[in-house]
Amino acid sequence: MVTERFDILIVGAGPAGSFAAERLARDGARVALFDGRPPGEPKACGGGVTSKALKQWPHLLEAVGRTVEELEMYSPGGKMLFLKLEEPFAIYSRIAFDSYLRDRAGEAGAHIFTERVSFQPRKSEKEDWVVRGQSGAEWSAPLLVAADGAGSRIAKLLAGALPKEEMEVAFGYRAPLPKEESAPTVVAFLPGWAGYAWAFPRPDHISFGIATSQDAFDHQSLDELLWRFMVGYYRMRADGTARLWKARKKDKALDELIETELRTKAERYAARIPGLAAKTWDTRRACGEGWALLGDAAGFADPVTGEGIYYALRSAEIFAEAYLSGKPLDYEARWREDFGRELRRAAEMRRRFYGNFWGAPFTERMIEFARAHRGIRKVLGELVAGDQGYVGLKRTLARRALRPL
Ligand SMILES: Cc1cc2nc3c(=O)[nH]c(=O)nc-3n(C[C@H](O)[C@H](O)[C@H](O)COP(=O)(O)OP(=O)(O)OC[C@H]3O[C@@H](n4cnc5c(N)ncnc54)[C@H](O)[C@@H]3O)c2cc1C
Repeated sequence: MVTERFDILIVGAGPAGSFAAERLARDGARVALFDGRPPGEPKACGGGVTSKALKQWPHLLEAVGRTVEELEMYSPGGKMLFLKLEEPFAIYSRIAFDSYLRDRAGEAGAHIFTERVSFQPRKSEKEDWVVRGQSGAEWSAPLLVAADGAGSRIAKLLAGALPKEEMEVAFGYRAPLPKEESAPTVVAFLPGWAGYAWAFPRPDHISFGIATSQDAFDHQSLDELLWRFMVGYYRMRADGTARLWKARKKDKALDELIETELRTKAERYAARIPGLAAKTWDTRRACGEGWALLGDAAGFADPVTGEGIYYALRSAEIFAEAYLSGKPLDYEARWREDFGRELRRAAEMRRRFYGNFWGAPFTERMIEFARAHRGIRKVLGELVAGDQGYVGLKRTLARRALRPL
């Protein structure tokens, strides 16, 4: 078997892998980028990309998507907050977003292989890494980059498996757009659960989903909750009321109609999102001699919200800069400095964010305060935009709350 040799093998052409491949190839590295996802099968994802990411990489706006300037947020008790965002965020279909980034990698000179690959640990650091496609073809390089997502087999072997409780569950449905013209973007904190549900309209459908960091849960109850959320979403569009979670007796006939339609048209999806605990942020490495992990493979997602696209792109960029400066191992210190502290802080905040505050869920209080106070509303908008981090969040909230209404 002839083995084709490269400088770098990147496994996985999601946002992390394609972004790294583009940067590295553009600077002359010989890069092989592999992805085995069947054509037309999207990665399970809400596809929300924060304004922080759009400002950092404005070319992302060239990918076909939708920008969102208004957001409806619901407290666990069903109170609604209408947020007019100063900084819009974008929602993409992951097929469109991933193809856009992959095409850019190809245009920059990366060699793209539509292959699911397997790899063998090498016997010594002097040897090349070798990956093998299902066709039996082989590729080798002195550097192996794992960008193969939350279930990364490479990360398990090189950095160790993550404990089960550090993998959040996210699932949902792709469902039809409501017949009415307006399909609002909605984020609703869950009653009785640590997590939230979303409705992200895209040009041709709505992505509904639930992400939860609940330690123990049963799928059936969460599925029922998501179903209630979806029915509530369409009901509100149809009758113009703002009752998301609670239906009245007289809503029965309408709800049944909505459910029948959803049963035939909604397509279910499910996947995991890494949600690392604070101690894991301290100990788990994202690179070593001849290897690096990017994006979800490294565990780089926000433990409170599950947002991972920004960190996939940013880790790819930081790794490429470290490699191109001739010091690939500097990647470890650089990602920690850049966003590691922030994500570690989010891990510490997770319980409090979904815990109680002044006798009610913190998320209930946050929506209540934001409804009444412009300063808090502004902080919430900045949190959604990705511009307000968890480090300093309390201080900012207190400072804004003390300003006049
Ligand atoms: C339901 C859900 C909703 C989410 N919503 C959002 C959101 O709205 N906003 C947000 O920012 N984040 C969201 N996330 C998180 C986000 O999807 C991830 O953080 C992001 O996709 C990580 O990008 P990545 O490139 O690291 O990995 P991925 O996007 O998972 O890409 C990995 C790629 O590797 C390929 N691959 C895997 N193994 C192999 C192999 N052996 N050979 C070849 N190819 C392989 C896969 O086919 C895949 O294309 C969501 C996640 C879930 C599960």
